[in-house]
Amino acid sequence: ARQAALAGAARPAVTVDGRHLHVHANIGTPADAAPALLNGAEGVGLFRTEFLFLDRADAPDEEEQRAAYVAAAAAMPGLPVVVRTLDIGGDKPVPYLGDFAAGEDNPFLGLRGIRFCLARRELFLPQLRALLRAAAEHPLRVMFPMVAHPGELAAAKALLEEARAALAAQGLPHGPVEVGIMVEVPAAVALADQLARESAFFSIGTNDLAQYVMAADRGNAAVADLSDALHPAVLRMVRDTVAAGNAAGIPVAMCGELAGSAEAIPLLVGLGLDELSMNGPAIPRAKDVVRGCDMAACARLAERALELPDAAAVRRLLRDGG
Ligand code: PEP
Ligand code: MG
Repeated sequence: ARQAALAGAARPAVTVDGRHLHVHANIGTPADAAPALLNGAEGVGLFRTEFLFLDRADAPDEEEQRAAYVAAAAAMPGLPVVVRTLDIGGDKPVPYLGDFAAGEDNPFLGLRGIRFCLARRELFLPQLRALLRAAAEHPLRVMFPMVAHPGELAAAKALLEEARAALAAQGLPHGPVEVGIMVEVPAAVALADQLARESAFFSIGTNDLAQYVMAADRGNAAVADLSDALHPAVLRMVRDTVAAGNAAGIPVAMCGELAGSAEAIPLLVGLGLDELSMNGPAIPRAKDVVRGCDMAACARLAERALELPDAAAVRRLLRDGG
C-alpha cells in the first residue's frame, strides 16, 4: 500500500485535458527536501534560506551555505531547485545582524528582502558565491525576494556577476544559475512586463502580495478578511503577472500559501499558473485536485472569481459554485 501511495504521489499532475501543472515543494532546510520528494514534489520551488540564518549567534559562512545548497539539490536529483536569497526584516528579525530594523515604524515597509541584501553586500556576496559554487555540482535557480522595480533586479544581478568574476579569478569551480524573482510587491506587478524581460521565471508570493495590495498586515487577525490572497484585488494581480510572464515566454509559479490550498487550486489552474509550490504534506492532495481539473471549466471559474467583490464571495464560489 505504501508503494502504491508513493507511486501515486510520484505521478505528474496533469489535468483531464492534458496540461501538466508542475508541483514543487517549499522548504526551509535541506532536510525538508527528501520527504518532499516522497510526497511527490517535482522539484523545490522555494528554499527559504533565511532559516539558515535564524536561531544562531552569527551568519553561516560561505562554505556552510554552499554545503546546505548542495544538500538540498542533491536530495532532488535531476529536478529544478529554486533557492531564494536571504529574506529577512519584516517579521523575520535576526539579532546578530544588528538593529537594522529597530528604528523602523513599519518593518514590513522597511529594509527587508532584496533591499536589505543590497544594503549589506558583505552578507549578500558570500551567499551569492555559495550559490554559484553549489551550481558547479547541481543546476540551481536563484530567486530574489521583495523586488519592487527593475533597478533592484539589475543591482542584484550585478552583484551576482561580481561574485562570479571573483570566483573565476580565484580559480574556484562555479556553475551557471538561472535568475528569477518573487512577485510579491504591487509595484512588481505594475512593472511585470519590464521585469519579465530580465527574469528567467516569476514566482508569486501571495502572502506578501495580499498584505501589500490590501494594505493589511498579514499577521494581524483583525484585518485577516482583507489580507486574504483569495481577494479579487489580489487575484487580478495574479492574472496580470501571468499575462506578463506569458507575453515574455517565461514560466510563472506561485509559492505563497494559496498555492497549497486544495480549495483554491482549480482557480489557480484557471488563472494559468505553470507551477505551484507548497509545503511537502500538501502535495499529494494538490496533485489529485489538479488531475480532476478541466482547463476550460477552470478558466470560466477564474473569470467569475475576478468579477466578485471580496474574498468571502470567492470562497463561496469555490465551495458551492456561488
Ligand atoms: C510569500 O510572501 O508569499 C512568500 C512565499 O514568501 P514568505 O512567506 O517567505 O514571505
Ligand atoms: Mg514573501
